[in-house]
Amino acid sequence: PAPKPQEKEKEKQPASPPLPRQNAKITPPSPPKIICDKSGNRELHRVGFLGEGGFARVYEVKERNGSRLACKVVTKSSLKTKKAKTKVASPPSIFMLAISLCTQLYAEIKIHNSLDHPNIVGFYDCFEDNENVYMTLELCPSGSLMDMLRRRRRFTEPEARFFMVQLIGACHYMHTHQVIHRDLKLGNLFLDANMNVKVGDFGLAALIENPGERKKTICGTPNYIAPEVLFDTANGHSFEVDTWSVGVILYTLVVGRPPFQTSEVKAIYKRIRDNDYDFPAERTISSNAQHLIQQILIPDPQMRPSLHEIVDHPFFTHGPVPSYIPTSAHDSPPDFR
Ligand code: ADP
Repeated sequence: PAPKPQEKEKEKQPASPPLPRQNAKITPPSPPKIICDKSGNRELHRVGFLGEGGFARVYEVKERNGSRLACKVVTKSSLKTKKAKTKVASPPSIFMLAISLCTQLYAEIKIHNSLDHPNIVGFYDCFEDNENVYMTLELCPSGSLMDMLRRRRRFTEPEARFFMVQLIGACHYMHTHQVIHRDLKLGNLFLDANMNVKVGDFGLAALIENPGERKKTICGTPNYIAPEVLFDTANGHSFEVDTWSVGVILYTLVVGRPPFQTSEVKAIYKRIRDNDYDFPAERTISSNAQHLIQQILIPDPQMRPSLHEIVDHPFFTHGPVPSYIPTSAHDSPPDFR
């Protein structure tokens, strides 16, 4: 049988695999209404709740100067008991804090803080008090593409091109900075006020420190996991797992549900292993979209197209790419004529 991912599953279907962190089911107390760091230099007013994931809760906060941010809060008691005393001597100075963090949270902070791209959620800083670790992030007030898909059921191909070009740009930037996201999915693609994609949640991201290095941790979200993560554990995986997820995302945008979805996680893995998916006859998916998806969802990671090859495919070059998406698209398909 396929191994179970040891990491989180956020999207509703199918049922979640085990949560990674101890006590994850116990709801921790809310962070203070006014969040301060130990030195008292930071003061953030909690003004709203944005959402929660596998281990973090995210709030909208207001700074003294009135600007609004997202603040991701991780309760220290929810972290794995195996903790690493982490002290990084190099800038940025925020890491001079000798925070006792589990290595996974430390990796998330280190990786996310190293990235700066218009289609990646901005990472501002992090600090702690006795109970929590706080990460301040660029506020994405329009929810995620998952929320939007639930309302819209599926997207038009011009919209899909717009979102995919931005996602692929962010993905290319991450890969050239040796970062594999490993959990690309609609629920981690946030939208800013102008409907631009912002890739978020670096909780499973990995840094490739040596060329040719392979990662062995089985992680991801069932519907979006590449076959080599599940079935080639001896060889490990690399950047191509994100390319696979890009293919799953494109399918999901234009069809309205992920390609390998079923009600049981085991059955999803079987379908991924057998490359068992099809295009619903009742929906008109263009032959270019179908061809590109088939090219990306190739089981052998070495045979998948590069990100450059993907944006050079006729799906992108032979159809309109809107210059922006109106906010009305939250509820109804825009008219691009
Ligand atoms: P986890 O790492 O625990 O999965 P996420 O980073 O996915 O947590 O965040 C959990 C939820 O919080 C998201 O699904 C989303 O609803 C909300 N959220 C996260 N980051 C932001 C942000 N920058 N702006 C607005 N909402 C956010």
